[in-house]
Amino acid sequence: MTGETHILQRLDEFRSEIVVREDEALSKHTRFGLGGSARWMVDVGTSGVLPEVVSILRESSMPMITLGGGSNLIVADQGFDGVVLRFTGNSITRNHGLTLAEAGSVWQDVVDFHTDLGLTGMERMTGIPGWLGGALYGNAGAYGQTIMDFVEQVTVFDGVSIREVANADCGFAYRSSGFKAHKDWILLAARMRLASGNPSEVRNTAAEILATRNEKFPPTLKCAGSIFKNLLVAQLSEKTLGRVPAPLIRGGKVPSAWFLEQIGSKGMCEGGIEVASYHANLIFNTGSGRAAEVCLLIDRLKSLVFSEFGLMLEEEVQYVGFADRVSH
Ligand SMILES: Cc1cc2nc3c(=O)[nH]c(=O)nc-3n(C[C@H](O)[C@H](O)[C@H](O)COP(=O)(O)OP(=O)(O)OC[C@H]3O[C@@H](n4cnc5c(N)ncnc54)[C@H](O)[C@@H]3O)c2cc1C
Repeated sequence: MTGETHILQRLDEFRSEIVVREDEALSKHTRFGLGGSARWMVDVGTSGVLPEVVSILRESSMPMITLGGGSNLIVADQGFDGVVLRFTGNSITRNHGLTLAEAGSVWQDVVDFHTDLGLTGMERMTGIPGWLGGALYGNAGAYGQTIMDFVEQVTVFDGVSIREVANADCGFAYRSSGFKAHKDWILLAARMRLASGNPSEVRNTAAEILATRNEKFPPTLKCAGSIFKNLLVAQLSEKTLGRVPAPLIRGGKVPSAWFLEQIGSKGMCEGGIEVASYHANLIFNTGSGRAAEVCLLIDRLKSLVFSEFGLMLEEEVQYVGFADRVSH
């Protein structure tokens, strides 16, 4: 019996709480719809069994990564030769004014849960694809609201034990968190506190924003949202800032789409991958695209922006299975 067969047999003991797939195409689990397979994909539904399952998986010596809803990823065409783990627990409960949601909750369910109760603070974040775990990892945000503003505590499995990390220790920053420096941690849940709002205002705002977003990002569009992070004003030289139309500078940030538009990114393509004609920072897969083509297009855009403005755009999207690409 090979070591891997033995491990799979041991995992069988947890079959009511986990799902193990071998050679699973990651294109089926990512919004971009491209990339190769994971050697194993393991979905774990209960945090209680996670430490034991992870410890068994580690015996395989294969590299292991944790993914969520797959909406912010570019998976390499050759896939990931290791274990892709997903924590799929998705309960959302409320007690004494605090919500406890598991990291496998679909983000939209978390938003709907709160908007239905007339609570305010995340209604503008409606329509962001993915799960709560991914939103915590990247400190997701939209229209002036950010997850760091209402999360009190995050429950993590740090490889040794399950413990709570207070907001102040999560290292949240624009589209970033301290969890990016602990890629072996698995985010399990978050406690969130939202204020009471005007229920009809909260619901109307959410409905309006969702309608706008669905036009910009049709639900069937194979993409990862914005490819590049926006630029913080503090990152830009006075000369560069002077070229940016003042009304575009909001909340201390300049949309990277403006820089991309200046270099003519709209409509550029590489094989089956294109930049949207209506959004300079949106790259999508026409259906036949490959990850290598996404990378070529990203590199071309970065290099054109660098030549024109002397600044290096940073990807918001996360890379999986690439030896030569850095996820920020
Ligand atoms: C159409 C579209 C629009 C978008 N709009 C926005 C927007 O307005 N604002 C915004 O912030 N983002 C936006 N995004 C990007 C994306 O939806 C968010 O980043 C989302 O929060 C990612 O969640 P996910 O579950 O899909 O994460 P994944 O893509 O699965 O993973 C992203 C990263 O999180 C890590 N991760 C995920 N779950 C866990 C976990 N449980 N434990 C540890 N690490 C984990 C992964 O390792 C990976 O590095 C958009 C994407 C699309 C496709």
